[in-house]
Order: sequence, then C-alpha cells, then structure tokens
Amino acid sequence: MAQPQIDTSPKVSDEVRQTTCYMCACRCGINVHLKSGKVSYIEGNRAHPVNKGVLCAKGASGIRQVNAPSRLRAPLRRVGPRGSGAFEEISWEEALGIAVEWLGPLRETGPQKLAFFTGRDQSQSLTSFWAQNYGTPNYAAHGGFCSVNMAAGGIYTVGGAFWEFGQPDWERTKLFILFGVAEDHDSNPIKMGLGRLKERGARVIGVNPIRSGYNAVADEWFGVTPGADGLLILALIHCLLEAGKVDLDYLSRFTNAPLLVRSDEGAEKGLFLRDADGKALVMSGGALVPFDAPGVKPDLGATYEGHRTVFQHMAERYLSPDYAPEKIAERVGIEAARIRELAAELARVAFDEAIEIAQEWTDFRGDKHPTMIGRPVSFHAMRGISAHSNGFQTARALHLLQVVLGTVETPGGYRFKPPYPKPPEAHPAPHCKVTPGKPLDGPHLGYPRGPEHLCLDAQGNPARIDKAFSWENPLSAHGVMHMVIANAHAGDPYKIDTLFLYMANMAWNSSMNTSHVMEMLTDKDEAGEYVIPRIIYSDAYASEMVAYADLILPDTTYLERHDCISLLDRPISEPDAAGDSIRWPVVEPDRDVRGFQSVLIDLGARLGLPGFVSPEGAPLYKDYADYITNHQRRPGVGPLMGFRGADGEGVGRGAPNPDQLQRYIDNGAFYQAHVPEGADFYKPWNKAYQDWAVKIGLYDAPQPYLFSIYSEPMRKFQLAAEGFGERQPPEVARARLKIAMDPLPIWYAPFGDDASDYPVHALTQRPMAMYHSWGNQNAWLRQIHGYNPLYVPTKIWTENGFAEGDWARVTSPNGEIVVPVAHMAALNEHTVWTWNAIGKRKGTWGLDPDAPEATKGFLLNHLISELLPEKGDGMRWSNSDPVTGQAAWFDLRVKIEKAEAPAEAQPVFPALNLKGVQV
Ligand code: SF4
Repeated sequence: MAQPQIDTSPKVSDEVRQTTCYMCACRCGINVHLKSGKVSYIEGNRAHPVNKGVLCAKGASGIRQVNAPSRLRAPLRRVGPRGSGAFEEISWEEALGIAVEWLGPLRETGPQKLAFFTGRDQSQSLTSFWAQNYGTPNYAAHGGFCSVNMAAGGIYTVGGAFWEFGQPDWERTKLFILFGVAEDHDSNPIKMGLGRLKERGARVIGVNPIRSGYNAVADEWFGVTPGADGLLILALIHCLLEAGKVDLDYLSRFTNAPLLVRSDEGAEKGLFLRDADGKALVMSGGALVPFDAPGVKPDLGATYEGHRTVFQHMAERYLSPDYAPEKIAERVGIEAARIRELAAELARVAFDEAIEIAQEWTDFRGDKHPTMIGRPVSFHAMRGISAHSNGFQTARALHLLQVVLGTVETPGGYRFKPPYPKPPEAHPAPHCKVTPGKPLDGPHLGYPRGPEHLCLDAQGNPARIDKAFSWENPLSAHGVMHMVIANAHAGDPYKIDTLFLYMANMAWNSSMNTSHVMEMLTDKDEAGEYVIPRIIYSDAYASEMVAYADLILPDTTYLERHDCISLLDRPISEPDAAGDSIRWPVVEPDRDVRGFQSVLIDLGARLGLPGFVSPEGAPLYKDYADYITNHQRRPGVGPLMGFRGADGEGVGRGAPNPDQLQRYIDNGAFYQAHVPEGADFYKPWNKAYQDWAVKIGLYDAPQPYLFSIYSEPMRKFQLAAEGFGERQPPEVARARLKIAMDPLPIWYAPFGDDASDYPVHALTQRPMAMYHSWGNQNAWLRQIHGYNPLYVPTKIWTENGFAEGDWARVTSPNGEIVVPVAHMAALNEHTVWTWNAIGKRKGTWGLDPDAPEATKGFLLNHLISELLPEKGDGMRWSNSDPVTGQAAWFDLRVKIEKAEAPAEAQPVFPALNLKGVQV
C-alpha cells in the first residue's frame, strides 16, 4: 500500500523579518514569519548572539500576544467612577491635548507634583531623559520592587551585578552555584549555559528554598530557609578563611583589602587613610604609598600607627565563631557538615583546579602579567536572595565570597558585560533640585557616595514622593516604586497631582497590599475629589490597572513598534562583546494605538521640553525611530553604537547616520563590537580593556578601581548615624542605620521574622513559561499555567492532614486568603510558595469571567503589607530593605490551616468591566 506523502516542512510564510523578542527580558533574536501580512510563526535567529537560534515557549507564543483579544484599541477617557471600567474612546489629538492640559501648567508651578514611574519596560534612558527635562524628581522604573538589592549590592562591591550585567564563563567554569534564581530570569542564556556545563560534566549547585526550574536540574540542592542565604554565605567565607583558602594575591592587587582603615576616634574613624591628594594608602615594602603607584605590592597584613588593613578587619569578623557552620546551621536550615563540604568543594575547584591562559596583560599600575590565572568557580543570583530586608547585605556577602576566591573577571569565573564594570564613582549621584518650568538639576537615579548625595529638602525631609535616597533607604538606586501610591495617598512627604504610569500593573500583581492599593486609587477627599487627582496610564492590554486610570494612552505590542536595547540602558552585551539591538514594526498595528516611546516624544515636544524641541520650539524628533537615530547623549554617542557616522563605519562614537536603523535591520536587528584579544578578562584593571572602552565611548577616560570589600560610602552613612557630619539623620533612624550600613557585609534577621506568631515563610516566583503579567492572557501559555496552587512541603502537608484537592486558609498579619494546595517534597520544610501573577481579576485581560485564572488563581500580594507593623517609635517604616528600599516581598510570614473548599479562591473582588475597551 502506498504511504501517504506528508510535507514535514510546509511553507509557513511568504516573508521573514528579523527583530528582538520581548516575551521576557533576555532579548533573543527572532525570525518573524509573515503570511499575507500576518504573523504566522516565530523562530529563533541562529545568528543572534543572545540565543543562537534557541527559542523558548514564551518566545514562540508571541503570536498570541500580537493577536490577544485584550489589546486596547484606542485612547480612552474615563467617564464613570474609577474602577467602573466606564471609558469613552477619544482621538489621539484629544488624548494628548488632555495630557498637555494637565502636565503643562504643573511644570510651571510644581513639577514635583508629577510622579512618573514605569514597569518592566526597556526604555529607561528615554523615560528618565524625559522626566529630567520635565523637571520632576519623581521618576523611576520598577527596579525598587524587583531586584535593586542585586544591582546596588553588586555596584557598591565589584562595580557590576548579576542578572544581565555579567555571566559565568560558561566555557571554563567547573562549579556553578545559583542562589535564589527563579526560572523566569535570564531564561535562554542560563538554559543554554547549563546545557554547556552539563556537556562538559561541570557541577551545578542550586541554593533555593524551592527546587524547581534550574534548581531541579542541579546536581545538588541546598533548600535554604528564606532570608538566611547571607548567613550561609558568611559561614562559607568563615570556612575558607579558617582553611587559608583565599586568593591573597588577587585580594592584595585588585581589591581594597590592603587599604588602611583609620582607627583614630572622630569624624574620620573607619574611613580610608589618604594622602594630601585624597589617594587611599597602603603599605608596600614597609613604606606608606598610594595604592595605585607603579610597582606597589600592597601588604595585606601591615599596620600603620594603629590603622589596620581591610583584610585584618575582614578576617577578624568572619573568623568569629558566630559564623561557624555549627552555630548557624539550624537558622539556615542546612546541616553544618554540608556547609563545610560545600566550602571545601569551593576551595578545591578554585585552587586545585585553577586554570591558566597564556595571555600577557598589563594592569593599571603598569605591572605586566605573563598569564591570566583562573579560578573556575562561578555564581549567579537573583531575587530569592534580594527581595528581603537584608537582601543588600546578602548580595554584598555573595560578591565577597566571589572576591575571596579570586573568581570575578578571571577565567572560569564571573565575567562582566560592557558597559560594566562601572563602580559607583562612574555613575551619577542622584539629583532632586526642582525649579518650576526648568529641567531637574541632573539625573534622578544614581549611587550616593555619602549623606551629601541624599535627596532631602531644606528641612531634611525626603524630596521624592517614594522617599528614595532618604535616611529611610539611602542607597535606593532604582527608586522605591512600591511606596509611590501609598505615599501619594497619604500626602507624605507631600501631595501630588498626576500619577503617570507605564506598563506597571499597580492595581494588581505589582503592588503589595493589593486591596488597599485599589482603595487608595479610588479614595476621595472631603471635597469629593480623588485623593490622587489624576492618573495617566499606558499599557497595550486591558490589565487591572487600566480600570483605575483617568486617561489611557494605548501602547502597541512588541512586534508593532520601534525599541532600542541600548548601551545607555540595558544592552545585549556578552563578556566578549559590547552589543545592542532594536525592535521595529514587523507588522503595522491594526487599531488606533501608538508606541509609548513615540507618544512620550510627542508629549515632550508639545510641552516644549528641552531635549525634545529646538531653540525655536519646533519638535526635534518625528517619533522614536527618529530619536533613536538622531539623539546624542554626548557628542557622537547616541542610543545605538553600530553603523555610526556618515559612512556607517563608526563604532560607539560618530555622527548620527540616517541609515542606521536599516543597517541594523539588515544585520538581524543587532550589532556587536568585540572586545580585543587580551582585554577580555580582568576588565576593571586591564589597561587594554580600559583603553578599548574609552575608544568605543563606554567611558570618557580610563577608570580602573578596586573591588570594595569594605564600603567607604556605607561607613560615611554609619558615621552620620554616630553623630558625625553636617547632614544628620533623625534620631529614630540612627539605630537601624548603624546596623544596616555596616561597611563589611553582615547578616541580620529579616524584619518579617518579627511576626513570630506566623511560623511559615511564603514566597512567590514567576514560572519559566511566563515573565510579564501578560503571560496569562496568552492562549498558548495559559495551557501551561492556568491557575496556581499553593505548594506545601511534606512536613506542613502531613501536620495539616492535607490531601490532593484540598484548600487552605493562609493568614498573615495583613490579611487572609483561601486557596488550593498541592504537595511538593523538594521544598524547604518551613516554606510555602506559589507562582506570581497567574491569578487575574475577573473581567480583565480579555479572559472569560469563569477562567481558572480568575476563579482558582490567586495572589499572595493580598497578604503583604507595604508597611511594617508599628514598633512604638512613632514611625511606620516601609516593608523594604533599609539600605536600598528594595521591596521585601520574601519576608512574608504566614499561618496555614485546612479550610472548606470555597466556590472560588478568596478574596473575590467584583468583576471589572473592560470588555468595551478591547479589540
Ligand atoms: S528567553 Fe525571553 S527573549 Fe528569549 S525567546 Fe524566550 S521569551 Fe523571548
């Protein structure tokens, strides 16, 4: 019998367009297949440096994003009460006219009354430029509730961070340890990297209370108790110091371990001993010399007139029996013997399996090194360690562990991606000076080097609505977005007029205390006016937040727009190459929507903002594509580094090139500039790398620096808390500043532990199949995670007599939920957890009212307060890290008990009626 002929590769398209994925933040290259002008198929771009053709489930499901029924179709003006979903469609002229009517007079009278905050977008170099020229100090993106502890902990310690700013040396590392990494983050790059490690037989260890995703494929799992990672890390450092297994040569040459710390009492105690030019001093060959002088061989063990080195302070602290594994094992939830074994494994791989590359290089002192020595141990970390009130110090501790092993920027270790490394001094300090009708006095966000850089008014009160860079959280480098609505509602530190949000679902999964936030958004004053008078929101989809806004500026999907993944922002660099990329409209929108960035540029021109209009007041840019091509942040340096100059040959520097975007499109929507040979390791100190970075415009001058085991900026804040210096904290803040701003990494119990009647830790994480909250309207991805049970470890499961199909009442000091449970054995025994942002409110996201997301799906957010309980000190501290203001989502403590199965997960909120605003 004849076999049927099956065409296994049918022609799926009549055209392929290459752009950049946005279904998560990895920014893989994609080939978008079009048939009759519609997206028919998405595949990975094999030539793209990020994914080399690999595509994940999210990326392939982008088709269902560009066709989602929940897409907004036109600008909207609210015509019913907030939350009613009653809107009327208006033209773009009307919408922009309303925005200008609100924002124009505000700029002339009190620009701080505009609070402009953005979510998981990737255009922060534009949005911050706009906000700066508008003149409000109240701008930030979502980093404060995401992972600022990772970013700031990294920048203040080693001048770069985990996440997209560096990566393990996948080709050489032999031992890879993940701390607190959920599988939504660094998706394809980590999966591909893990694949390479497994091929080579390298060992992978996961440290996480939950064994899912990457932790599930690790060779070994440490189910640490939430919030105790820092203690585990410092115990490892204790063991390494005890065994003498630290890289003394690396510590001496490239870190501030040999710097002398002043011991004399007074305003400079604990700061570095410096010469008349301000250069930090070390002892070398018995002489006191500047740390960077040619030929200096810094002495780690020296003292000078009673001043001891950082190394001696460090050894004294971490050799203390307080950090012995036997002392901390119970609190960490891991047996002492396993901690000691892990430390021994780190030492064995770092020192007994060291690697050496025959590559000569010259350091910043002028010393020539014949080879590059590698310690093939690498780490990666993410929100699991950072979303705690001790997360900044924990991130610092992890970087310290890397540094004592000599494994940052060495072969086999952790490698930075350009434009990193960049120490705090190479970043701006924050700015907050408001002058009505004028731009702000500088960039909003930055890295304070001391109390002089705090954003305070003349009375010492916070200058920003989110209280970023105040005594409550001095190093809040990404702002404190989770406090914006609560502070604006309370008028603390002042009232605002307009809240302008982009792509941030603050009325649902992006806020703590969700039901209270909804009340704050709808609350009215005695005069019957909304307490937060005006809300402008831009989103592509009918999300929960849409229902609470007064004016909606509908965004496009990611396949219908221009975007710029820029070196000025969050590029797609690799350790061996600086890289950036674009998105461009591979399909045109079929409704009356506009890319938010183009709208912002239009608004900037209509408001006459500097940077958006010529001296004569004419718009400088037609749209975002025009801005990407022609904007120059510094002469010759613009959003894209490739194909610059009249001939298109300029790299990093060069005049704007009108053909630049087409050149990117022709090149697969990306560009790479390779790090020259010999410049690819030791970047902070390698003369060849520093010179190359200047050449392509990453820096304006070489900026070698030492890793900061001991943070002098933090010591300056501690000195202020001790009563020294002009700028003094309020009395109530002194005690916690003294602890939290310790210049050497420490561990203190997360503030959530105060809820001692609530014995169980409760966590959330995003799944591998979803990143943005929009994942659960995606027809394909919903089939993977249609609802989210609460996962319960065996001990709690048994104690409560749970069985499959049961429900539980989960209570925190802030509220109660009733939700379905599921058993999970590979889980820390004091911890429950669930997937975040799967649960949706009825009537949103184009879902049916009886969709599982809205009936069985739920949020833990209802249980989390944005404020800590009263402590009797007259303050209501935010539920944040006291150093950076990072939202302490993972400090949550709960009680759990079996409950009658309700008809739907509790609490149930009335359905929102957004049907009328969708396509
Ligand atoms: S990893 Fe992220 S960027 Fe890459 S294909 Fe998947 S969703 Fe897209």
